Amino acid sequence: MWMARSTLPQSYKLSDGILTPDLTTKVGWTGSGNVALTNDTENFKTGAASVKLAITSAGGNGQILKDPFGVPPLHFGDVSFWYYVYGDPATTVASVSLSLFSTYATAYVYISIAGSAMVSGWNYYSGKVQTWGTVGGATWTNTFTAIRFKVTAAAGQTCAVSFSQCYFEAEYIPLVMWTFDDTYDAPHDAGFFQYLADKNQYATLYVSKNRIGANDAIYLTHDELDEIYAMGHGIGSHGTDHHDLTTMTRAAVAAELTENSEYLVSQGWPRCAYHVGYPYGSRNATVDLAMADAGQLTGRGVTTGSIRSGVFGGVVGDYTLPCVFGLGPDLTLEVAKAAIWTAKLAREHVIIMAHQILAEPDLEEGNDWSTSDAQALADFIQSIQLHSVSMDAYFIGRTNPRYQSLPVGRSPL
Ligand SMILES: [Zn+2]
Repeated sequence: MWMARSTLPQSYKLSDGILTPDLTTKVGWTGSGNVALTNDTENFKTGAASVKLAITSAGGNGQILKDPFGVPPLHFGDVSFWYYVYGDPATTVASVSLSLFSTYATAYVYISIAGSAMVSGWNYYSGKVQTWGTVGGATWTNTFTAIRFKVTAAAGQTCAVSFSQCYFEAEYIPLVMWTFDDTYDAPHDAGFFQYLADKNQYATLYVSKNRIGANDAIYLTHDELDEIYAMGHGIGSHGTDHHDLTTMTRAAVAAELTENSEYLVSQGWPRCAYHVGYPYGSRNATVDLAMADAGQLTGRGVTTGSIRSGVFGGVVGDYTLPCVFGLGPDLTLEVAKAAIWTAKLAREHVIIMAHQILAEPDLEEGNDWSTSDAQALADFIQSIQLHSVSMDAYFIGRTNPRYQSLPVGRSPL
């Protein structure tokens, strides 16, 4: 069967996971509450029907339960399902929830979605059990024996929702992105960009045009950036002069970002020229609009967190990239390793924010980290076989579908 290119796997998805439970028929589900169950043969994603819950009393709720039901052991914790809302969810639906029970009715993890967060028609939930609510001491690593979808109507309203195509354990390729802010020379002086390149780990340097060569004792020179780019690292944008973009007009931000990006391209460093690290990590809605005006592809702030593949951002306009941590005196090597290991287990991406890498870091300085720790972290990333890529490579892999090989021995198409 041919697949449209647009439907091929994107965003580092290795596998859809396990299609379960059977939401192609109401048979096998126990309905309870103020609910009428039907097989919905008009709106479904798999098979020939979905399971429709019509809440029959105003403000009431109803559920479908499978007990026993063996949820596959969750290693990555990824869960997704589709649901079709009849009518206007903002006025008729209070919430839709999915619960996984380790002990039915008393110990469970759950996700609840408010009607105001839904649209009329098809909705898609995709998330990680690690972030769900817990009741009765349940945790996402439990063995789950029952599953429940529940619909609650808004006060004074009835509603109807159909559930379809629930997947567990979609798997993604985890990545690491090293990023360096502020055009500092110290990591280069420490030989760290060469150290990374020797391990096939490629960083992104967010640089400001007006700092390049402005002070040899502090900032990188043009020749040094040429050398770093030739190693395979990317040179991205930190604005022309480290202005706080949130203090400027949309037009001024767009003009500054355009100027810096065009400068990077003109110097022969195009790979990451349209990827931004926000000075001071500052962004807001106006900056987002200016980023789009200036054709920027990604923006990295200083908010901490890992990136979940598959749902993060859009195809363009990935303007809220977090960093898993910033390297500084408050961060130990062991904590840094643990955060990267956790992200790898969850199949998430991590962005490392770095500034100064020095043989003898100044512990009074918020942004210094020692060369020996930085090298040990790079060694660790290599030892657990994570890929480390520059921001342009990350972005291409997020947005460009990858073809899957066909089974050996297939008959000719
Ligand atoms: Zn900065």
